[in-house]
Amino acid sequence: MKRRKRKRPRPNAAPEASYICGACGEDIVVPIDLTAGSEQSYVEDCPVCCRPNVIHVDILDPDDIRVHAELEYES
Ligand SMILES: [Zn+2]
Repeated sequence: MKRRKRKRPRPNAAPEASYICGACGEDIVVPIDLTAGSEQSYVEDCPVCCRPNVIHVDILDPDDIRVHAELEYES
């Protein structure tokens, strides 16, 4: 398992959280849009294995963001 560390400037200290891809098990870091509501869900393709994950975001507090993901099953 390889792990890449990315360094990037964070001008506004944009919040980030991470989820575990349901398909490949990689830890995926996603930026969090605090303005989109305290409960969010959206589909995002895993950047590692390209499978669609349904991302669920619960923002309890800007410093306490919970993210989990599940694979989107195609019907
Ligand atoms: Zn994946």
